[in-house]
Amino acid sequence: LRRNPAELEFHQAVREVLSSLGPVVAKHPEYADAAVIRRLCEPERQVIFRVPWVDDAGQVQLNRGFRVQFNSALGPFKGGLRFHPSVYLGIVKFLGFEQIFKNALTGMPIGGGKGGSDFDPKGRSEAEIMRFCQSFMTELSRHIGEYVDVPAGDIGVGRREIGYLFGQYKRLTNRYESGVLTGKGLAWGGSQVRQEATGYGTVFFVNEMLKARGETFDGKRVVVSGSGNVAIHAIEKVHQLGGTVIACSDSDGYVVDEKGIDAELLKQIKEVRRGRGRDYAEARGSMADHVTGGTIWDVPCDIALPSATQNELNGADALTLVKNGCRVVGEGANMPSTPEAIKIFDDAGVGFAPGKAANAGGVATSALEMQQNASRDSWSFDHTEQRLEEIMRAIHDRCAETADEYGSPGNYIAGANIAGFIRVADAMLALGII
Ligand code: NDP
Repeated sequence: LRRNPAELEFHQAVREVLSSLGPVVAKHPEYADAAVIRRLCEPERQVIFRVPWVDDAGQVQLNRGFRVQFNSALGPFKGGLRFHPSVYLGIVKFLGFEQIFKNALTGMPIGGGKGGSDFDPKGRSEAEIMRFCQSFMTELSRHIGEYVDVPAGDIGVGRREIGYLFGQYKRLTNRYESGVLTGKGLAWGGSQVRQEATGYGTVFFVNEMLKARGETFDGKRVVVSGSGNVAIHAIEKVHQLGGTVIACSDSDGYVVDEKGIDAELLKQIKEVRRGRGRDYAEARGSMADHVTGGTIWDVPCDIALPSATQNELNGADALTLVKNGCRVVGEGANMPSTPEAIKIFDDAGVGFAPGKAANAGGVATSALEMQQNASRDSWSFDHTEQRLEEIMRAIHDRCAETADEYGSPGNYIAGANIAGFIRVADAMLALGII
């Protein structure tokens, strides 16, 4: 705490991982001897930089940029960029720390990192967003590369922003280095299914949890928070598997649509028109209500998929969900449930999939995009989706088996933390004290 003052989310993420590792260190003292945990908590490199840009009125604006390169024992640093006014070092470090274990869990050769800026894209014109991205990349370009660090999107960074970032990288380096960024458009080095991957992957993971309990999505009422990239594609996949998503949200409130959220309409409104949840409710007429105030977790459901942002589901929300009969929670977002909420789910026997396992499909498909870039190939949608489903099944099984092995059957948090830790810790031991 003294070493990293006021980085609250980072402390929360570290505490959550370390609380699972007691039995591992007891069984493998070599990790403690080589100070693996202490080294894991210290990023290999952190870059903080000025991002100056000119708005449409000709005024100079200033933001702060970050890239935290946390651990590259398993491969080049890999993790998204977040553009949101709440971004500061504590958020970037929590995300980068989680990313180490998530990436290890995928079984793919990728290290962990994260970056972003306190830039707020909301209300900005296309031209302003492009100028911001160009200025951000002007500095970031010195620190990334196919074999060094490969950023992708996150909150506020979708295909449009990745395009402007990639364009500026190409211009600065005079290289068409496709493997430097993932989440690219299909015509310029992107992969099928990357856009869908995080949301689809979360639903595939929860589907495996349901199977383990002898259940399916069929007929289940599902609530998905958020209405961005992860939420939209989670909604789409739940519907394909026979469940009904009856509510989603944004930072203005939530929408309840008892017949099932129309994922195509939501996509149109959010991605093409750049509209809000209330525009969706208006377009659905009497079928949907837009609610401001309260919380989306008041809507009774069987399954909850928090897919907006960190700490969006607190202890009171968890009590409401349990009281209303919710039996499975899958985190589409990173660390959306507070420690109090997780304890309540655990006490009530609710199946709980932590983000670092459940939302790993996004980064796994980014690694598939890197594979396609490296071999100058592009795979079909069906083939890529099948790979994603296999990867999510393998992550599920790895978490479940590891939890069993270390004496916490059914505890996906322990399983994910321990399995991710062991893979990265073994690589760190092999590489020596670096
Ligand atoms: P988007 O920017 O596409 O969407 C984010 C959604 O969450 C929006 O509906 C947004 O509402 C809402 N939201 C964001 N911040 C807040 C807040 N502080 N309070 C309330 N609502 C908020 O982001 P993604 O869908 O890509 O990311 C969502 C989550 O998933 C994040 O935790 C991210 O780290 C995680 N994730 C994303 C991956 C990806 O591949 N994109 C991969 C793995 C994890 P509004 O528009 O009103 O701000």
